[in-house]
Amino acid sequence: MSPGIVGVLGGTFDPIHRGHLDVARAAHDALGLERILLMPAHVPPHRHRAPHASAYHRFAMTALAAQDAPYLVADDAELRVDGPSYTAHTLARLATTGYAPSQIVFITGVDAFAEIATWFDYPRVLDAAHFAVVTRPGHGLDLIEARLGALRPRFAPPQALRDAPAANAYETRVFLIDAPTSDVSSTSLRAALAAGGDVAALVTPPVHAHIVRHGLYRPSLSQAGRLHEES
Ligand code: ATP
Repeated sequence: MSPGIVGVLGGTFDPIHRGHLDVARAAHDALGLERILLMPAHVPPHRHRAPHASAYHRFAMTALAAQDAPYLVADDAELRVDGPSYTAHTLARLATTGYAPSQIVFITGVDAFAEIATWFDYPRVLDAAHFAVVTRPGHGLDLIEARLGALRPRFAPPQALRDAPAANAYETRVFLIDAPTSDVSSTSLRAALAAGGDVAALVTPPVHAHIVRHGLYRPSLSQAGRLHEES
């Protein structure tokens, strides 16, 4: 265990799926994290890639998914703040609650971390927390080496955190974790649901029940009605 070290997995979670839980488990197992906050992002509706489900539904599904493991906690910190969610701001807010940078691990998939040079406040954001970067089907650690080789001095095996959890409060690392995760994305899941497909194996049972009960990601009745009137 790494006592006092909190993991944060952010995402649009539209919807949250097995791949997200696999990433969290990989970071938990490799780094010995006691607690991982699942933090749905606030994405303003006018943004180009606006979420399909409301923030309320995305949070509800996140809370239901958190039942999957005792170390998972749904956290609404980003949803309570207006404007787009920037990791730099999220980490700064966590710091005001008493966490030193070396007590936070921000968890991402390789595909997301590969874009980190485009994130708000890069490269300073790397000093605000440790990062755990987990492989995703089709996205191996070689992508990080190829794109972000300049960060190599920060790379560390996950064991380093277990060995010295209370190292220098301001020394942050990038932990590279090679672990299998489910080959699923929210995009493919939404497409399957819109086509009337069965996605039960790709989400947890409570999340699946929520999606079905509320008819999420299916063409809505009002849309169907409009289409009918137009034809
Ligand atoms: P979308 O298809 O809508 O872009 P997504 O499935 O990639 O969504 P996000 O909510 O954007 O999900 O992802 C949140 C985080 O989880 C990112 O860091 C992403 O890399 C990681 N992630 C998502 N799915 C997987 C997966 N199957 N394996 C590993 N990492 C994943």
